[in-house]
Amino acid sequence: MRLQDLFGQEIAKEQLRRSLLEERISHAYLFSGPPGVGKKTAALAWAQALNCLSPVGGDACDACPACRKVANRTHPDVLHIVPEGESIHLEQVREVRRRVLYQPYEGQRLVVILSDGDRLTPEAANALLKSLEEPAPWAVFVLVSDRPQDLLPTIRSRCQPVNFRPLPRQVIASFLKDRGISEEQAGFLASLAGGSLARAEKLQADETARRALLARWQQAWRGSLLERLSLARELANRETEIALGAFLVWLRDLWVWQETGSRDLLRNPDLVTYLPGRMLSHAELGALRRCLVRAWQRLAQNAQKQLLWEEVLLGWPSASNGEGRSSSGNSGRCPVSQSR
Ligand SMILES: [Zn+2]
Repeated sequence: MRLQDLFGQEIAKEQLRRSLLEERISHAYLFSGPPGVGKKTAALAWAQALNCLSPVGGDACDACPACRKVANRTHPDVLHIVPEGESIHLEQVREVRRRVLYQPYEGQRLVVILSDGDRLTPEAANALLKSLEEPAPWAVFVLVSDRPQDLLPTIRSRCQPVNFRPLPRQVIASFLKDRGISEEQAGFLASLAGGSLARAEKLQADETARRALLARWQQAWRGSLLERLSLARELANRETEIALGAFLVWLRDLWVWQETGSRDLLRNPDLVTYLPGRMLSHAELGALRRCLVRAWQRLAQNAQKQLLWEEVLLGWPSASNGEGRSSSGNSGRCPVSQSR
């Protein structure tokens, strides 16, 4: 990846590009900023630019053999140091120090990327400090940190700071739209992401799973007894809290939608398509809610999951009037609520 392919962070990218163009490469950088805004990706892009065989405008070409090797993490002169367990340990830094004694094998510079650089043990930090105090002319250290305040001040002062900021909402929305998310949904997720692309990706993954769940639910809701039993079996293998939570939000939206007809008041305005095609009575809505709340309580009591979901799903009214369960005269009452 090239620096220019990184989302947002124009100031940081410009700072790095300019230093390569002007051949003012520092022996150590500190990439700091909140989590999930592109620091690690930028560190890799910077390592690529530093070793690219035909850089363009202070950035990597992304095509030469060196670029391919850095991108594939097989370049012998780009070292990736990550915490082993909770910390980066002394032995890891000692190994780096041994390697730094030798010139690059095939690149122009030996780039050492320390992810989560704030997680150096005190001994490892002191060992690293020695490398920063007596820098090998071919070595470039890139410390990446969400919490630069946890680094030794003496380490911080020897690094050129490169600051990464929370990404603007529209940048995140644009990233999500490029991934095929609708404009409305991308805007909604971006507003929840708090400037972090990583968080937006996590929200998107959760969202995709939730939509698949609701689509499947809608299918069973409109389908036969057998389809509901089949869904209960599927749900028994999922994270029950997440599935129950998704159904509770769905029910809340259904209720609000029926009462107001306003998309603006829905938690998931684009999920209107998953709502049933008919109006449910207050009694039915109340019974649905009691089913879910009761299931929640039963979950806390370690109820058998498939049984729990069968109790919920078999008692729910049918999506359409006069069909399925509702024709049996049991509409809107789950077996659990009857027993209360
Ligand atoms: Zn290249």
